[in-house]
Amino acid sequence: MRIDVVSLFPDMFVGPFGHSIIKRAIDAGILNIGIVNPRNFAFDKHHIVDDTPFGGGSGMVMKVDPVVRAVESVIGDLNLNKRIILLCPGGQRLDQAKARELAAYDQLILISGHYEGIDERVREHLADEALSIGDYVLTGGELPAMVVVDTVARMLPGVLGASDAAQQDSFYSSLLEYPQYTRPREFRGWEVPEVLISGDHAKIAKWRRKESLRNTLERRPDLLVAANLTAEDAKLLREILDERGGN
Ligand code: SAM
Repeated sequence: MRIDVVSLFPDMFVGPFGHSIIKRAIDAGILNIGIVNPRNFAFDKHHIVDDTPFGGGSGMVMKVDPVVRAVESVIGDLNLNKRIILLCPGGQRLDQAKARELAAYDQLILISGHYEGIDERVREHLADEALSIGDYVLTGGELPAMVVVDTVARMLPGVLGASDAAQQDSFYSSLLEYPQYTRPREFRGWEVPEVLISGDHAKIAKWRRKESLRNTLERRPDLLVAANLTAEDAKLLREILDERGGN
């Protein structure tokens, strides 16, 4: 997959994309990331990329023309299945289902705003959609772009070590993950659940499913509505409720 990020601050991406799983995905050729600076597409003498808002008001607005030209510069093969995404606090909230949907494209173009945001014509005429990473406002779209790249990248085949690792993660099937433990078996009297060292794989799988349901029920009960639950899950949920005294 190819991901191009349109940003006035390309250096911000050097660290996050230069380590760990994302770096390995890039080195393996699974992910190809480009950063394009709209300043290089501002053709006036001073390469101006922002201006005061029409109608007055505080702050500066990123200009439409350098952003559009920057995006056009990374649209290569017209046959590529691509998506142009504006990062914006007022966009659709990013979640796991969205990340999985985006991972199916050949190319994503992520537009990061700054200052008071970007001239609305980018949203009206260029972007396929607007995405938000949460109901809060950041100073720029660079961190949101990194979040999108990270979560989409780990959905790509071959990026995570075990082939089903992403499927086990929280939210993938609308359930939170079960608790994970590693050595030592005991630390300051804090013990690892006995079942996990039993070597009984069927028992471990059942325990994990039950704890995944328990975590979701206790921390994010809203997710259960969309979860695809089996009759066995319903039985486990009943057991959990009984253990909690029927609440
Ligand atoms: N004036 C804008 C508003 O009230 O919606 C906020 C602009 S914000 C300071 C500057 C840029 O940061 C935005 O254009 C967007 O690209 C990015 N940004 C800030 N918060 C974001 C969020 N929660 N999700 C996605 N992008 C965000």
